[in-house]
Amino acid sequence: MSMHDEVLAAAKDMLRLNLTAGTSGNVSGRLEDGSVVITPSSIDYETMTLADLVVLDASGEVIEGTRSPSSEKLVHIACYKRFPEVQSVIHAHPVYASMFAVARQPIPSAIDEFAVYVGGDVPVADYAMTGSSELGENAADCLVDVGSALLANHGTVTVSDSPERAIHQLGVVERAAQIVWGARILGGDAELPSSTNETLGGYYRMMRKPS
Ligand SMILES: [Zn+2]
Repeated sequence: MSMHDEVLAAAKDMLRLNLTAGTSGNVSGRLEDGSVVITPSSIDYETMTLADLVVLDASGEVIEGTRSPSSEKLVHIACYKRFPEVQSVIHAHPVYASMFAVARQPIPSAIDEFAVYVGGDVPVADYAMTGSSELGENAADCLVDVGSALLANHGTVTVSDSPERAIHQLGVVERAAQIVWGARILGGDAELPSSTNETLGGYYRMMRKPS
């Protein structure tokens, strides 16, 4: 599959798996020449085709495609600029993770194996307005050691080495948010031993940036 195919498939999966609503959210992938293929703004995922995708140069200017790029393109661009190992970025509005984003509370790494996929607690990036370059910089600040961050009062950003793995990771984050939310209603989320998260988070960082 080409990166265009992978981005389109991940965008359709994002809707199918209930990880975003309507036409919100966006998926991108880095191409070999450093440009970025990204989903367009305001097009239904169910009917979206390869021809709807837009290609941006490394600074976010449109170089291919007739649609408007996602209004959150600067979040994607900031992540690619900051992290050479990142090949795919997803911004989404999943319900449970967005609850933590609105409460401005990190999603704790409270489930065994969570840190293997995400690296550790999902932090909350400082608030910045939608569409601003500051929003992208604030998100990237949070993604040095972990693969997902919450955008305060907004949603999520996930970085990975492929669109397929980014969708999987986003699903892990959303499921964890739902479970922790429920556990708190049941009387509180117990912490994992810090040694578990250190070991498993170490695997994540080793896979993300092989030395
Ligand atoms: Zn958004």
